[in-house]
Amino acid sequence: MNIVLLGIQGSGKGTLVQDLSKHLDFSLVSVGALLREEIATGSQLGKLIKSKTDKGELVDIKIVIETVKKKLSENKKPIVIFDGFPRSKEQADELDKICNVDLAIYLNLKKDDAIKRIMNRLTCSKCGNITTRTNCPDMICPICKGKLTVRSDDTPEAVNKRFEQYELETYPLIERYKKRGVLVEIDASKTPNEVLKAVMKVIK
Ligand SMILES: [Zn+2]
Repeated sequence: MNIVLLGIQGSGKGTLVQDLSKHLDFSLVSVGALLREEIATGSQLGKLIKSKTDKGELVDIKIVIETVKKKLSENKKPIVIFDGFPRSKEQADELDKICNVDLAIYLNLKKDDAIKRIMNRLTCSKCGNITTRTNCPDMICPICKGKLTVRSDDTPEAVNKRFEQYELETYPLIERYKKRGVLVEIDASKTPNEVLKAVMKVIK
């Protein structure tokens, strides 16, 4: 079963994947992680990816597909979850060529709510722990007592820009999977536990 996870930044995709891993045996295909893994192997492909990312250039769709294909060929798990991929019509077309998308889970969150969540998010400068301003108003990490900071790319301007990009590229994917009858919309304004329950119901 191949599952595509769609949702704006702040919709809780990362949390959902983490929670799902406690209940389901699946292979996670996260393109960002795949590219980093390929670089770490020191392969020819990895070197090519590194030269692109070092220059701040986008990695070519063909290379992205190459790493996804490799991951799928090594997969032995019954469920594959794609996180942050596909991100555009072009990527979705390529994905259709290599596998069947059985389910597209859309974590639907209003833009204003997503922005509120993102602006509430804090990261520990020492241990990388992720928490919120609500939980830690003193800006001190509960794990290591390090200083909690706002991610540098989480300014309102940057967040708005990412949202515009998201709507432009990802919204057509929602329509695409809806037409195909594989889209399930989940209300992402609910608590992580409620979102998990709703998603588990759909997968089982
Ligand atoms: Zn910490």
